[in-house]
Amino acid sequence: MRITIANHKGGVGKTTTAINLSGFLAEMGYRALLIDMDSQAASTQGLGFDRGLLEYTIYDSLLEDGPLTPLKTSVENLDLVPANLDLAGATLELSGQVGREHILSTLLTNLLDKDHYDFVLLDCPPSLDVLTLNALVASDSVLVPLQPEYYALNGLTQLLKVLDRSKIRLGVNLRRFFLITMYSATNLHKMVHQTAIERLHKPEADSIVFETLIPRNISLAEAPVEGLPISIYAPDSSGSIAYRQLAEEVVKYNAER
Ligand code: ATP
Ligand code: MG
Repeated sequence: MRITIANHKGGVGKTTTAINLSGFLAEMGYRALLIDMDSQAASTQGLGFDRGLLEYTIYDSLLEDGPLTPLKTSVENLDLVPANLDLAGATLELSGQVGREHILSTLLTNLLDKDHYDFVLLDCPPSLDVLTLNALVASDSVLVPLQPEYYALNGLTQLLKVLDRSKIRLGVNLRRFFLITMYSATNLHKMVHQTAIERLHKPEADSIVFETLIPRNISLAEAPVEGLPISIYAPDSSGSIAYRQLAEEVVKYNAER
């Protein structure tokens, strides 16, 4: 399963979900690969890498046509294709290139031909740029984290349009998953969750709102400072319990295919 984690709204929990979902999938014994598509390199740093010291990043693969060269992380079964600030220039550098949306997809197919990964997660920047499009084209699913704010669902229109257009123009038909993050069971949050289910949960159309709700939990904000997923940093925290449950849901949906 290849899952792009995207939302053009910033700070909704994309990176937190990328690190901790891949961390739990790895802990469950699956081989997992996290690809950092964001020049802020939060996933790279959150897994304990110093973005200033990397000899290889995703930028090299995208601009020089590969290959993808995953690094081992301190977490068993979890590998990382890292990013650093170089990637900030990639959007512009790729803009004139033929087939620019398909570069990553080709590289990933080549990697998966020789190396087995059960799950590949792609952490995107907060924008619907050519890097996010590359991730979408390389994936079979998109996971959209949503902070339960009043306007969160209206803000989705643009992303849903990009997904519809990608289907028509790029031939990518992605399963859609929506995840409520930073949930705190207030009336507002309950209402937004309910509305998300009404509007977005359509299993027959491959659009699913996860049952798992990710609570607001300080351990989730602390773990990346230590360079660790929550499964190792604070395995008994409420955030850890929630991301483990999310991983189980993802495995269940994957098995349905
Ligand atoms: P960006 O758009 O900048 O890439 P993002 O969507 O990747 O942001 P994160 O970096 O995952 O979002 O989260 C934003 C901030 O909120 C971070 O400081 C993170 O540690 C914190 N955070 C994320 N999820 C939770 C949570 N469930 N509980 C508490 N803090 C959280
Ligand atoms: Mg991020």
